[in-house]
Amino acid sequence: MEKQQLIIIGSGPAGYTAAIYAARANLKPILYTGFKAGLEGGQLMTTTDVENYPGFPEGILGPEMMMAFKQQAKRFGTDIRAEDVLSVNLKKAPFTVTTADTTMETKALIIATGANAKRLDIPGTREGEMWQKGDSSCAVCAGAAHIIRGKTLFVIGGGDSAVEEAIFLTKYAAKVYIVHRRDQLRASKIMAERAKNHPQIEILWDSVLDSVAGDTVVSSVVVHNLKTNQQSSYPAGGVFFAIGHSPNVDFLQGQIPLTQSGYISVEKGTSKTAIEGVFAAGDVQDDRYRQAVTAAGSGCMAALDAERFLSESGV
Ligand code: NAP
Repeated sequence: MEKQQLIIIGSGPAGYTAAIYAARANLKPILYTGFKAGLEGGQLMTTTDVENYPGFPEGILGPEMMMAFKQQAKRFGTDIRAEDVLSVNLKKAPFTVTTADTTMETKALIIATGANAKRLDIPGTREGEMWQKGDSSCAVCAGAAHIIRGKTLFVIGGGDSAVEEAIFLTKYAAKVYIVHRRDQLRASKIMAERAKNHPQIEILWDSVLDSVAGDTVVSSVVVHNLKTNQQSSYPAGGVFFAIGHSPNVDFLQGQIPLTQSGYISVEKGTSKTAIEGVFAAGDVQDDRYRQAVTAAGSGCMAALDAERFLSESGV
């Protein structure tokens, strides 16, 4: 079995930043980009303009930014492997990391597997129904699809993602409704104002999606006002969920303690998990900030913590 000093799982800002620091510290890290159907590059691959990452005064496209992170990690010698990690064994050191092709041993591990978009279990939106036929949790991926062009679209949620997706979809849609369960958006003020002032966006307050219908693609939705208890049917060409995220921890199979909300628990102010030699970075351990810049910062912390752990272990 191949033996490594450091394996990093995940290819978002946290994983690549950890790789940049670890490679520069000569730890020869291996970085697995995937983690069970994970998207290489993480959530920024499905984002349009990133306007709040310092150093890009004009903004930068999410995928472009992730390619730059990747090139920088490669430049210092990170061994980047486009494979999904299927399982890990953290019961004793050295730990093992298994993909479809190999199992490797490693002295230290950084988990930076991020979080995935949540969906709701609503009639018409399940696999085999209208999922990916106008139902999606990724506006950027589906935005240009011909089936939604010129149609009325629905975005579910009231956070920054919902607003961002709604604004993005106005490029293709005739009209975009944001369906939000409360009477106030969770989105930041600047984003909320953009949504409220956008001529193609209307917000359905205190409302939830009851069902989605269609033959081969989405053609209508039923929305339910929680205050008036009234149901309304609308013609629709697509439905997009933007209701938050859940951390990608299933592949750990309960081997690391999690927080109450299911994120990896780390020692305050560090990236150390309850298992010595295993570190966590980015959204998989952060249900509070969840920003590209905070993920990158925590990736740096994980690499520094791993480096110290390895040198104290005599590596
Ligand atoms: P979020 O802030 O957690 O918002 C999730 C939204 O979905 C909330 O409005 C929530 O309603 C709603 N929701 C949750 N569960 C629901 C359910 N079962 N049924 C109906 N609605 C439900 O998630 P996010 O928008 O993905 O943002 C995550 C983080 O990324 C935030 O920190 C955000 O600022 C950041 N972000 C930033 C940008 C940007 O700056 N460009 C873009 C995207 C995301 P309630 O409000 O009632 O809880």
